[in-house]
Amino acid sequence: MKEKATLQPVRRRFIQRAVQTLAGVTLFGLKPAVLAQATAPGSNLARSPITDPDAALRELTLGNLRFQQGQMTHPDNTLERRTLVAAKQQPYAIIFACSDSREAPELIFDEGLGDLFVIRTAGHVLDGAALGSLEFGVAELGIPLLVVLGHERCGAVTATMDVVERRALAPGNIETLVAAIRPAVLYGRGEGAARVDQVVRANTALTIQRLQRSAILAEAVERGKLKIVGGHYDLDTGAVSFGVTLPE
Ligand SMILES: [Zn+2]
Repeated sequence: MKEKATLQPVRRRFIQRAVQTLAGVTLFGLKPAVLAQATAPGSNLARSPITDPDAALRELTLGNLRFQQGQMTHPDNTLERRTLVAAKQQPYAIIFACSDSREAPELIFDEGLGDLFVIRTAGHVLDGAALGSLEFGVAELGIPLLVVLGHERCGAVTATMDVVERRALAPGNIETLVAAIRPAVLYGRGEGAARVDQVVRANTALTIQRLQRSAILAEAVERGKLKIVGGHYDLDTGAVSFGVTLPE
């Protein structure tokens, strides 16, 4: 604890300087060199609570850049952090993601305990429980950012495309997923991987449209307390791109 008390002010100043450096940088144009300045290897970030949607998006972007480059700091992953958040959580982003084992949010955004409020279903299919969880994160925890996160080569999406192609039904409750993803298949253009990619992006954008029908979420957006953003995770590069929209 003594060491923590000594180091934390230094780390805090380091991060403050990094954020000041970043303030003049376009969010999506962050350069690796900027990233290198923004993180101290192995540091456990002593952050103030993040309540601003844009600040939350910047934090995710920085964490994902660290992940892409293999320069993870594994923040908020200590016994001290566990003790701190045991009493109260204040995560800064909701991640509504696919269950795919390759896009674990805490890993790809290089975050730790108490940072992200995560809901996952295959193909990030929305049902009552998932929507209720998202609304809880906004209404009860005051989380300022909601990311719907699709990903490259999504198995739920390709399975749906296959079922639609064969004019068939999926077995068991998997049909629930297929029925939810099916409208996105109409947006598929091109062939092969490009077509899958279009459908994945459409599925993300259509999910956001459904979320916008939630009175709780819509009101938070209206009041400037929440941003809802579509993300797309590249399995090969580890990069998350934000701003997914419905394909033309
Ligand atoms: Zn998936």
